[in-house]
Amino acid sequence: MTTVTREAPPGARTLRNYVGGRWVDAGAPEGALEDRDPATGELAAMVPLSGAADVDAAVGAAREAQPAWRELAPQRRARAVIALREALWERREDLARLVTSDMGKTLDDARGEVLRGIESTESAIAIPHLLKGENLEGVARGVDVELVRQPVGVVGAITPFNFPVMIPLWFLPYAIACGNTFVLKPSERDPRPSELIYEIADAIEEIPDGVLNLVHGGRDAVNGLLDHPDVEAISFVGQASTARYIAERSAAAGKRFQALGGAKNSLVVMPDADLDVTLPAIMGSAFGAAGQRCLAGSVAVLVGDRARQDEVRDALVAAASELAVGPGDGDGVDVCPLVAPEARERIDAALAATEGGEGEVLLDGRRDPGPGGTMAGPSIVEVADPESELAREELFGPLLTLVRAPDLDAAIEFVNGSRYGNAGSIFTTSGAAARAYRYRVEAGMLGVNVGVAAPVAWFPFSGWKDSTDADLHANGRDAVEFYTRKKVVTSRW
Ligand code: NAD
Repeated sequence: MTTVTREAPPGARTLRNYVGGRWVDAGAPEGALEDRDPATGELAAMVPLSGAADVDAAVGAAREAQPAWRELAPQRRARAVIALREALWERREDLARLVTSDMGKTLDDARGEVLRGIESTESAIAIPHLLKGENLEGVARGVDVELVRQPVGVVGAITPFNFPVMIPLWFLPYAIACGNTFVLKPSERDPRPSELIYEIADAIEEIPDGVLNLVHGGRDAVNGLLDHPDVEAISFVGQASTARYIAERSAAAGKRFQALGGAKNSLVVMPDADLDVTLPAIMGSAFGAAGQRCLAGSVAVLVGDRARQDEVRDALVAAASELAVGPGDGDGVDVCPLVAPEARERIDAALAATEGGEGEVLLDGRRDPGPGGTMAGPSIVEVADPESELAREELFGPLLTLVRAPDLDAAIEFVNGSRYGNAGSIFTTSGAAARAYRYRVEAGMLGVNVGVAAPVAWFPFSGWKDSTDADLHANGRDAVEFYTRKKVVTSRW
């Protein structure tokens, strides 16, 4: 899928950039990539690899539109976001189907993703309230101090493949509601849902030309945004190594940035856990979206004596064996294809390494990879060494690693030994254990008897440690902090 071609095969559609309210051909000096349906392997579109000139055109349009957009009253900008919300809601099924055909996840999961993106849009509608400043009267005789928030200017967002609707919508509504103009560079692996979001926005007359811009591509487009002097702020979500790169390059260019990175989330199963609750939650967390969620639980920590640990291990293997594997639009499918053949090969390699001595393969999901080369069933491995790569590094596939811990202290020590701190969950019927876990665990999104601890849109998406290279997260009040600059005015009258 990542083959670079200079010319599109006959009949293939090449995606266009959206600049200043018009769809335009990218100059794309490096050619184009194929965008294939992960389940069928069919070519859906060619993705142009935009270059610096393409980015410059988009940033130029955004810069031109920003002063007038900023001057609109906040409630008028809120109305534009309301119109966007209504239009996204109208087209939610089309968006979900496109997510399934471009990224691969099941239709139910895609519908959930679209709903989450719409909720982020809804949360930005409160912008007149959220933008309100502060004041302090009488700091000296006749002197008052007032804090106001102003937009930062042109902002860029660079997004990953695994939530091609939700993550662009973490940023876009807040950015423009705050009075900024926006340039999106979506994942080159599944950019068609972003294209549909922009088609939807294009029809909304409350959003003037130039407020929203879209540039397709890979590294060159990203670097074009990072290096452009007229881009004031960068929002990024992707792998930890890319996040670090984005953070360093943004900082070197004097931009503000938020860079959300990868994860290795643990699910702690206490001896008193109710398995009727725990097993379905872990199945959904580890194998939903084929493990390609940044909140996926990919290590289960089995707590207790050996007999109980064995009981939970066997129950997990039995439950995972029952999961249905198939294309995202298939009936009753639990485990969808991976986004690309390389992603499946990475999981196959991890299983081979396990067999080579790193641990024991308890459930082997390797199978005929199907027409897209992307199908993998659920796999469960157990490792003896809790510092092994299988227990510590993100694999981003349907592979659950098991480790054992004698008690909660040992489990929390293992959890906190991770370089990541995105999410984690505990399964227990003890309030005291849940409280100790919540208090001591070094991660920003925690679940108690919940498999995927995804905050709703009115809260920040608050990873810690190497799961984020930023102080301000996506969504909630953090989004307003990120997309505005504070100005403090001292007056004497
Ligand atoms: P990725 O880092 O490969 O790509 C993300 C974006 O960065 C894409 O738009 C891509 O074009 C660009 N990019 C990739 N490599 C680059 C480079 N060397 N130079 C410049 N730009 C580059 O991430 P992905 O594989 O698309 O997404 C999956 C990752 O995202 C996982 O690690 C997952 O945990 C993480 N993720 C994190 C969160 C979070 O909130 N922390 C949410 C979703 C996904």
